[in-house]
Amino acid sequence: MERTCVMLKPDAVQRGLTGEIITRFERVGLKIIGVKMAWPTKEQMEKFYPSTKEWLTSVGEKARKSHEEKGVQDKRDPLETGKWVKSVLVEYASCGPVVVLALEGNSAIEIVRKLVGSTDPLKAQPGTIRGDFTPESIVFADANQRATRNLIHASGNKEEAKHEIKFWFKENELFDYKLGGEEILYSNNWTKRKKT
Ligand code: ADP
Ligand code: MG
Repeated sequence: MERTCVMLKPDAVQRGLTGEIITRFERVGLKIIGVKMAWPTKEQMEKFYPSTKEWLTSVGEKARKSHEEKGVQDKRDPLETGKWVKSVLVEYASCGPVVVLALEGNSAIEIVRKLVGSTDPLKAQPGTIRGDFTPESIVFADANQRATRNLIHASGNKEEAKHEIKFWFKENELFDYKLGGEEILYSNNWTKRKKT
């Protein structure tokens, strides 16, 4: 089974959305195997988020796309935008307590990203967490020189998931148990009629 990491950012916690958001992961059938509340330091968030040129540039490209789609010119160099985003993101993620989850299930990474919605909440579809709970946008955040307050972090791929789960949880803080209904979700035998 695949594992992924979710972090409810300080705005989600302070708006009292913790339960609402966790419910969405439970009801889709993902298993909570780890949970923790913490108030991260800036140093921790520096290490939690990537610093590779590739990631920084991709963040910068995303910002450019969001601006272009709104007819706003973004003349910044994507790498420089990425570096700036990382600095404001570290401030944002460490400004209050966060709730971190380790989740497990088939295609957990992709399913969680689908439920979370686009990075830019303005593009996130209704029904997604970012689409349903915030009027935020990348263009608005950038104009105000701050991070995009999009409520939640979710691992983007297997590599991130591995790094992030290890970052937050010791081995003995991750739990193995049977989820009610697990056989309906995954078992090959479940549909077999019992012999009478
Ligand atoms: P995601 O969280 O969807 O995986 P990224 O990994 O690209 O998105 O970016 C990490 C976080 O940085 C975002 O969730 C958001 O809070 C913040 N962020 C991204 N792009 C911008 C931007 N252009 N301006 C301000 N903050 C941003
Ligand atoms: Mg990401």
